[in-house]
Amino acid sequence: MTAATLYIIATPIGNLEDITYRAVRILGEVDLIAAEDTRHSLKLLNHFGISKPLTSYFDHNQQIKGERILNALRQGKSVALISDAGTPCISDPGYQLVRDAVAEGIPVIPVPGACAAVAALSASGLPTDNFTFAGFPPSRQGKRRTFLAGISSLPGTLVLYEAPHRLLETLSDIREVLGERQVIVARELSKMFEEFIHGSASEVIDAVSQGIVRGEVVVLVAPGEVSEQESEPLENVLLRLMASGTLSIKDIAKQASVISGVSRSEAYGEALKLKYNTD
Ligand code: SAM
Repeated sequence: MTAATLYIIATPIGNLEDITYRAVRILGEVDLIAAEDTRHSLKLLNHFGISKPLTSYFDHNQQIKGERILNALRQGKSVALISDAGTPCISDPGYQLVRDAVAEGIPVIPVPGACAAVAALSASGLPTDNFTFAGFPPSRQGKRRTFLAGISSLPGTLVLYEAPHRLLETLSDIREVLGERQVIVARELSKMFEEFIHGSASEVIDAVSQGIVRGEVVVLVAPGEVSEQESEPLENVLLRLMASGTLSIKDIAKQASVISGVSRSEAYGEALKLKYNTD
Protein backbone atom coordinates (compact mmCIF):
# COMPACT_ATOMS: atom_id res chain seq x y z
CA MET A 1 0.00 0.00 0.00
CA THR A 2 1.45 3.34 -1.09
CA ALA A 3 0.60 6.51 0.84
CA ALA A 4 -0.74 9.62 -0.91
CA THR A 5 -2.11 7.50 -3.75
CA LEU A 6 -5.50 7.49 -5.42
CA TYR A 7 -6.67 3.98 -6.36
CA ILE A 8 -9.39 3.67 -9.03
CA ILE A 9 -11.01 0.37 -8.15
CA ALA A 10 -13.41 -1.60 -10.35
CA THR A 11 -16.23 -3.38 -8.50
CA PRO A 12 -18.71 -6.01 -9.83
CA ILE A 13 -21.48 -5.15 -12.32
CA GLY A 14 -23.72 -7.86 -10.89
CA ASN A 15 -22.04 -11.05 -9.73
CA LEU A 16 -20.08 -10.30 -6.54
CA GLU A 17 -17.47 -12.92 -7.50
CA ASP A 18 -16.32 -10.51 -10.20
CA ILE A 19 -14.19 -8.50 -7.80
CA THR A 20 -10.45 -9.09 -7.81
CA TYR A 21 -8.35 -10.26 -4.85
CA ARG A 22 -6.31 -7.11 -5.32
CA ALA A 23 -9.38 -4.86 -5.15
CA VAL A 24 -10.52 -6.48 -1.90
CA ARG A 25 -7.02 -6.18 -0.39
CA ILE A 26 -6.58 -2.51 -1.34
CA LEU A 27 -10.09 -1.56 -0.20
CA GLY A 28 -9.19 -3.09 3.16
CA GLU A 29 -5.91 -1.16 3.38
CA VAL A 30 -6.67 2.42 2.24
CA ASP A 31 -7.30 5.28 4.70
CA LEU A 32 -10.49 6.42 2.97
CA ILE A 33 -12.97 5.05 0.43
CA ALA A 34 -14.81 7.54 -1.80
CA ALA A 35 -17.99 5.97 -3.16
CA GLU A 36 -20.66 7.16 -5.60
CA ASP A 37 -23.39 5.99 -3.20
CA THR A 38 -22.13 5.13 0.27
CA ARG A 39 -25.21 3.12 1.24
CA HIS A 40 -24.97 1.01 -1.91
CA SER A 41 -21.23 0.43 -1.48
CA LEU A 42 -21.60 -0.41 2.20
CA LYS A 43 -23.39 -3.61 1.18
CA LEU A 44 -20.45 -4.61 -1.01
CA LEU A 45 -17.89 -3.68 1.65
CA ASN A 46 -19.81 -5.56 4.35
CA HIS A 47 -19.98 -8.60 2.10
CA PHE A 48 -16.18 -8.64 1.97
CA GLY A 49 -15.75 -7.75 5.66
CA ILE A 50 -14.22 -4.35 4.88
CA SER A 51 -14.72 -1.55 7.37
CA LYS A 52 -13.11 1.76 6.41
CA PRO A 53 -14.04 5.44 6.57
CA LEU A 54 -16.41 6.17 3.68
CA THR A 55 -17.20 9.44 1.97
CA SER A 56 -19.53 10.16 -0.93
CA TYR A 57 -18.32 11.34 -4.32
CA PHE A 58 -20.99 11.75 -6.98
CA ASP A 59 -21.88 14.04 -9.89
CA HIS A 60 -23.45 16.84 -7.84
CA ASN A 61 -20.90 17.11 -5.05
CA GLN A 62 -17.72 16.43 -6.97
CA GLN A 63 -16.51 20.02 -6.79
CA ILE A 64 -16.52 20.20 -2.97
CA LYS A 65 -15.81 16.53 -2.32
CA GLY A 66 -13.07 16.42 -4.92
CA GLU A 67 -11.21 19.16 -3.08
CA ARG A 68 -11.56 17.32 0.25
CA ILE A 69 -10.33 14.09 -1.27
CA LEU A 70 -7.37 15.90 -2.84
CA ASN A 71 -6.59 17.40 0.59
CA ALA A 72 -6.55 13.94 2.15
CA LEU A 73 -4.16 12.81 -0.59
CA ARG A 74 -1.97 15.90 -0.09
CA GLN A 75 -1.75 14.99 3.61
CA GLY A 76 -0.35 11.61 2.65
CA LYS A 77 -3.53 9.52 2.94
CA SER A 78 -4.36 6.74 0.50
CA VAL A 79 -7.81 6.91 -1.07
CA ALA A 80 -9.84 4.36 -3.07
CA LEU A 81 -12.49 5.55 -5.51
CA ILE A 82 -15.34 3.17 -6.31
CA SER A 83 -18.63 3.62 -8.15
CA ASP A 84 -21.92 1.77 -7.83
CA ALA A 85 -20.82 -0.82 -10.37
CA GLY A 86 -17.94 -1.50 -12.70
CA THR A 87 -15.05 0.80 -13.42
CA PRO A 88 -15.17 4.33 -11.97
CA CYS A 89 -14.93 7.14 -14.57
CA ILE A 90 -16.58 4.99 -17.27
CA SER A 91 -19.98 6.71 -17.49
CA ASP A 92 -19.53 7.14 -13.75
CA PRO A 93 -18.06 9.89 -11.53
CA GLY A 94 -14.30 10.15 -11.20
CA TYR A 95 -12.89 11.89 -14.24
CA GLN A 96 -12.49 15.33 -12.60
CA LEU A 97 -10.85 13.88 -9.52
CA VAL A 98 -8.40 11.82 -11.57
CA ARG A 99 -7.66 14.79 -13.85
CA ASP A 100 -6.93 17.03 -10.83
CA ALA A 101 -4.82 14.39 -9.09
CA VAL A 102 -2.79 13.79 -12.26
CA ALA A 103 -2.31 17.55 -12.69
CA GLU A 104 -0.89 17.76 -9.14
CA GLY A 105 1.44 14.83 -9.68
CA ILE A 106 -0.46 12.63 -7.18
CA PRO A 107 -0.02 8.96 -8.14
CA VAL A 108 -3.21 7.43 -9.57
CA ILE A 109 -3.29 3.63 -9.76
CA PRO A 110 -6.01 1.69 -11.60
CA VAL A 111 -7.18 -1.59 -10.10
CA PRO A 112 -8.84 -3.17 -13.15
CA GLY A 113 -11.93 -5.34 -13.14
CA ALA A 114 -15.49 -5.42 -14.42
CA CYS A 115 -16.72 -2.99 -17.05
CA ALA A 116 -20.06 -3.63 -18.76
CA ALA A 117 -18.88 -2.25 -22.12
CA VAL A 118 -15.87 -4.56 -22.32
CA ALA A 119 -17.79 -7.59 -20.97
CA ALA A 120 -20.53 -7.09 -23.58
CA LEU A 121 -18.07 -6.55 -26.43
CA SER A 122 -15.96 -9.57 -25.50
CA ALA A 123 -18.89 -11.99 -25.87
CA SER A 124 -20.76 -10.21 -28.66
CA GLY A 125 -19.11 -11.82 -31.66
CA LEU A 126 -18.64 -8.36 -33.22
CA PRO A 127 -15.19 -7.11 -34.24
CA THR A 128 -13.09 -6.28 -31.19
CA ASP A 129 -9.93 -5.00 -32.88
CA ASN A 130 -11.40 -1.54 -33.26
CA PHE A 131 -14.35 -0.24 -31.29
CA THR A 132 -15.75 3.02 -29.98
CA PHE A 133 -17.27 3.26 -26.55
CA ALA A 134 -19.73 6.14 -26.92
CA GLY A 135 -21.36 6.08 -23.45
CA PHE A 136 -25.03 7.04 -23.05
CA PRO A 137 -26.69 8.64 -26.10
CA PRO A 138 -28.54 11.90 -25.33
CA SER A 139 -32.07 11.30 -24.05
CA ARG A 140 -33.78 13.74 -26.46
CA GLN A 141 -34.43 12.36 -29.91
CA GLY A 142 -33.06 15.24 -32.00
CA LYS A 143 -29.79 15.30 -30.07
CA ARG A 144 -29.61 11.52 -30.03
CA ARG A 145 -29.91 11.34 -33.81
CA THR A 146 -27.25 13.99 -34.28
CA PHE A 147 -25.03 12.07 -31.85
CA LEU A 148 -25.59 8.82 -33.79
CA ALA A 149 -24.92 10.61 -37.07
CA GLY A 150 -21.64 11.83 -35.59
CA ILE A 151 -20.43 8.28 -34.86
CA SER A 152 -22.03 6.57 -37.86
CA SER A 153 -18.96 6.52 -40.08
CA LEU A 154 -16.48 5.36 -37.45
CA PRO A 155 -14.79 2.17 -38.63
CA GLY A 156 -15.22 -0.22 -35.67
CA THR A 157 -17.95 -1.68 -33.47
CA LEU A 158 -20.02 0.91 -31.55
CA VAL A 159 -20.67 0.25 -27.87
CA LEU A 160 -23.38 2.25 -26.10
CA TYR A 161 -24.96 2.28 -22.67
CA GLU A 162 -28.70 2.81 -22.44
CA ALA A 163 -31.44 2.85 -19.84
CA PRO A 164 -33.98 0.04 -20.37
CA HIS A 165 -36.94 2.44 -20.74
CA ARG A 166 -35.20 4.25 -23.63
CA LEU A 167 -33.92 1.12 -25.37
CA LEU A 168 -36.62 0.89 -28.05
CA GLU A 169 -36.41 4.57 -29.00
CA THR A 170 -32.64 4.33 -29.27
CA LEU A 171 -32.78 1.13 -31.33
CA SER A 172 -35.20 2.73 -33.76
CA ASP A 173 -32.96 5.79 -34.09
CA ILE A 174 -30.01 3.44 -34.70
CA ARG A 175 -31.97 1.87 -37.55
CA GLU A 176 -32.94 5.28 -38.95
CA VAL A 177 -29.55 6.92 -38.73
CA LEU A 178 -27.06 4.04 -39.01
CA GLY A 179 -29.15 1.81 -41.26
CA GLU A 180 -29.95 -1.88 -41.00
CA ARG A 181 -26.76 -3.04 -39.29
CA GLN A 182 -26.25 -6.00 -37.00
CA VAL A 183 -27.17 -5.04 -33.45
CA ILE A 184 -26.69 -6.81 -30.14
CA VAL A 185 -28.37 -6.00 -26.86
CA ALA A 186 -26.41 -7.43 -23.93
CA ARG A 187 -28.68 -7.49 -20.91
CA GLU A 188 -28.06 -8.15 -17.21
CA LEU A 189 -24.44 -9.19 -17.65
CA SER A 190 -23.13 -11.54 -14.95
CA LYS A 191 -26.61 -11.73 -13.39
CA MET A 192 -29.26 -14.45 -13.30
CA PHE A 193 -31.14 -13.24 -16.41
CA GLU A 194 -28.11 -12.49 -18.55
CA GLU A 195 -29.08 -12.46 -22.22
CA PHE A 196 -27.61 -11.51 -25.61
CA ILE A 197 -30.17 -10.54 -28.27
CA HIS A 198 -28.61 -10.75 -31.74
CA GLY A 199 -30.02 -9.71 -35.11
CA SER A 200 -30.45 -6.95 -37.64
CA ALA A 201 -31.63 -3.66 -36.13
CA SER A 202 -35.21 -4.55 -37.16
CA GLU A 203 -35.00 -8.09 -35.72
CA VAL A 204 -33.68 -6.80 -32.40
CA ILE A 205 -36.40 -4.13 -32.33
CA ASP A 206 -39.00 -6.85 -32.91
CA ALA A 207 -37.52 -9.03 -30.16
CA VAL A 208 -37.33 -6.15 -27.69
CA SER A 209 -40.87 -5.00 -28.55
CA GLN A 210 -42.29 -8.38 -27.43
CA GLY A 211 -42.16 -7.41 -23.76
CA ILE A 212 -40.87 -4.96 -21.22
CA VAL A 213 -37.07 -4.84 -21.09
CA ARG A 214 -35.91 -4.98 -17.52
CA GLY A 215 -32.46 -4.54 -16.05
CA GLU A 216 -29.34 -3.03 -17.47
CA VAL A 217 -28.35 -3.08 -21.11
CA VAL A 218 -25.39 -2.47 -23.37
CA VAL A 219 -26.12 -1.90 -27.08
CA LEU A 220 -23.52 -2.91 -29.66
CA VAL A 221 -23.68 -2.00 -33.34
CA ALA A 222 -21.60 -3.68 -36.06
CA PRO A 223 -19.36 -1.48 -38.17
CA GLY A 224 -21.03 -0.04 -41.28
CA GLU A 225 -20.08 -1.66 -44.57
CA VAL A 226 -19.33 1.54 -46.45
CA SER A 227 -15.78 2.78 -46.22
CA GLU A 228 -14.98 6.47 -46.07
CA GLN A 229 -13.89 6.47 -49.71
CA GLU A 230 -17.22 5.11 -50.90
CA SER A 231 -19.56 6.67 -48.36
CA GLU A 232 -23.31 6.63 -48.83
CA PRO A 233 -24.46 9.30 -51.32
CA LEU A 234 -25.87 12.47 -49.73
CA GLU A 235 -29.22 11.91 -51.42
CA ASN A 236 -29.62 8.45 -49.83
CA VAL A 237 -28.73 9.81 -46.40
CA LEU A 238 -31.25 12.64 -46.78
CA LEU A 239 -34.00 10.32 -48.00
CA ARG A 240 -33.37 7.92 -45.13
CA LEU A 241 -33.56 10.71 -42.55
CA MET A 242 -36.65 12.21 -44.24
CA ALA A 243 -38.39 8.84 -44.19
CA SER A 244 -38.56 8.98 -40.39
CA GLY A 245 -41.04 11.86 -40.77
CA THR A 246 -40.12 13.29 -37.37
CA LEU A 247 -37.23 15.63 -38.16
CA SER A 248 -37.28 19.20 -39.41
CA ILE A 249 -35.37 20.01 -42.62
CA LYS A 250 -32.84 21.89 -40.48
CA ASP A 251 -32.19 18.82 -38.28
CA ILE A 252 -32.05 16.55 -41.31
CA ALA A 253 -29.43 18.83 -42.89
CA LYS A 254 -27.44 18.94 -39.63
CA GLN A 255 -27.33 15.16 -39.31
CA ALA A 256 -26.72 14.54 -43.01
CA SER A 257 -23.78 16.94 -43.00
CA VAL A 258 -22.14 14.93 -40.20
CA ILE A 259 -22.81 11.59 -41.91
CA SER A 260 -21.77 12.67 -45.41
CA GLY A 261 -19.05 15.17 -44.52
CA VAL A 262 -20.63 17.96 -46.59
CA SER A 263 -21.42 21.46 -45.33
CA ARG A 264 -24.73 22.05 -43.59
CA SER A 265 -25.77 24.56 -46.23
CA GLU A 266 -25.13 22.05 -49.02
CA ALA A 267 -27.10 19.39 -47.15
CA TYR A 268 -29.89 21.91 -46.48
CA GLY A 269 -30.09 22.93 -50.14
CA GLU A 270 -30.22 19.29 -51.28
CA ALA A 271 -32.81 18.46 -48.62
CA LEU A 272 -35.05 21.30 -49.83
CA LYS A 273 -34.76 20.11 -53.43
CA LEU A 274 -35.71 16.57 -52.42
CA LYS A 275 -38.58 17.77 -50.26
CA TYR A 276 -40.15 19.77 -53.08
CA ASN A 277 -39.59 16.95 -55.57
CA THR A 278 -41.14 14.35 -53.29
CA ASP A 279 -44.06 16.36 -51.76
N1 SAM B 1 -18.95 2.19 -14.71
C1 SAM B 1 -19.82 1.17 -15.23
C2 SAM B 1 -19.00 0.19 -16.06
O1 SAM B 1 -17.79 0.11 -15.88
O2 SAM B 1 -19.59 -0.54 -16.85
C3 SAM B 1 -20.97 1.76 -16.00
C4 SAM B 1 -21.86 2.64 -15.16
S1 SAM B 1 -23.17 3.34 -16.04
C5 SAM B 1 -23.79 4.49 -14.87
C6 SAM B 1 -24.42 2.14 -15.95
C7 SAM B 1 -24.71 1.52 -17.32
O3 SAM B 1 -23.77 0.49 -17.59
C8 SAM B 1 -26.06 0.84 -17.40
O4 SAM B 1 -27.11 1.76 -17.73
C9 SAM B 1 -25.85 -0.18 -18.51
O5 SAM B 1 -25.92 0.46 -19.77
C10 SAM B 1 -24.39 -0.60 -18.23
N2 SAM B 1 -24.36 -1.74 -17.30
C11 SAM B 1 -23.92 -1.75 -16.03
N3 SAM B 1 -24.02 -2.98 -15.50
C12 SAM B 1 -24.55 -3.77 -16.46
C13 SAM B 1 -24.90 -5.15 -16.54
N4 SAM B 1 -24.74 -5.96 -15.50
N5 SAM B 1 -25.42 -5.62 -17.70
C14 SAM B 1 -25.59 -4.81 -18.77
N6 SAM B 1 -25.28 -3.50 -18.75
C15 SAM B 1 -24.76 -2.99 -17.62
